[in-house]
Amino acid sequence: MPSIATGSRIFLSPPHMSGNELTYIHEAFDTNWIAPLGPNVDAFERELAEKVGTRGAAAVSSGTAAIHLALRLIGAGPGDKVFCSSFTFIASANPIRYQGAEPVFIDSEPDTWNMSPQALERAFADAEREGALPKAVIVVNLYGQSAKMEEIAALCERYGVPIIEDAAESLGSTYQGRASGTFGRFGVYSFNGNKIITTSGGGMLVSDDTGALEKARFLATQARDPAPHYQHSEMGFNYRMSNVLAGIGRAQLEVLEDRVRARRLIFSAYESELGDLPGVSFMPEPAGSRSNRWLTVMTVNPAEAGVNPAELLAAFAEQNIEARPVWKPLHLQPLFAGAAYYPHLPGASFCETLFGQGICLPSGSSLTEEEQARVISCVRREWKQGIAVSA
Ligand SMILES: *Cc1c(COP(=O)(O)O)cnc(C)c1O
Repeated sequence: MPSIATGSRIFLSPPHMSGNELTYIHEAFDTNWIAPLGPNVDAFERELAEKVGTRGAAAVSSGTAAIHLALRLIGAGPGDKVFCSSFTFIASANPIRYQGAEPVFIDSEPDTWNMSPQALERAFADAEREGALPKAVIVVNLYGQSAKMEEIAALCERYGVPIIEDAAESLGSTYQGRASGTFGRFGVYSFNGNKIITTSGGGMLVSDDTGALEKARFLATQARDPAPHYQHSEMGFNYRMSNVLAGIGRAQLEVLEDRVRARRLIFSAYESELGDLPGVSFMPEPAGSRSNRWLTVMTVNPAEAGVNPAELLAAFAEQNIEARPVWKPLHLQPLFAGAAYYPHLPGASFCETLFGQGICLPSGSSLTEEEQARVISCVRREWKQGIAVSA
């Protein structure tokens, strides 16, 4: 038992229902559209495409499945390289290996913490010299912040390589006034339970290429040929979203803007209450972009703070508060040992520094002010103790 009263558990990013989900679920039950597909799936695709401004969308079982389908549609296969952000969740890169291709990891840069155009340019130059340009570039918009899509898209265009935008964490964010996730040939959103909106599990592939989306739907339903019997000429997957879950998604999409506002307010509260502490910084939001602030990420520079990130995480755990280190860069993962990696500046990896200092704070849109106050006072107490020890 903890020695001090800790209160109920504060989660990092729990699901936040609007109440309207049951309306759509009931509709599905009343019409017996329980089986995969149905009117909620069609409507969810239409409504999401309209929201982000793409010609179409294909609802699938997860964000990972959407990335996999995008790579398959682009034709990445054995012997091919695919460039991918290193500072991200494993699901950004696993589908590269599903396709038998090899990832090449690209570092982040300090302004957005996302893919460094400088590192990308060096990776392209090397690949061109070797006569082996990548099949695709997977650009991640971490924690809701868009990458420098203008610079990245210009480079990809110069080399004629398509972008898959992994916007799993950035639904509701914008870059230069346009929805995050709509800058590549394909964009990917996730509705996993911890994301800004959820279907309990699910994903969406978006694109202006409606023919490719039609092919994605075909591949996601076992690639069944148009024949009266079950005939298959290609290998497909069972990746479609169910009509019940799409109903949850429709209700969640209705409140997306509220969810973004709530998370941005939580970010502002943390920043204003903790930003004065020595050694503390927050994830930037460069001009021209608006992050959904899916998770508030704080960095702790132990040399200036007198507190190290591991101590802070231990204090949160003791207070029954769920906080997490930032994603471990993929080029450091045992799974990807030996994969090529391009740091932001030669010999100076930026995301490794972030990995050593970053902490994700509880950021769910249902987080109350009392809960925020508990998180804030837990942090401030560590700094007081840190100063007391060093004095
Ligand atoms: C959540 C996430 C995914 C995967 O989405 P799932 O729906 O969980 O498969 C991919 N990339 C990033 C950056 C994510 O955060």
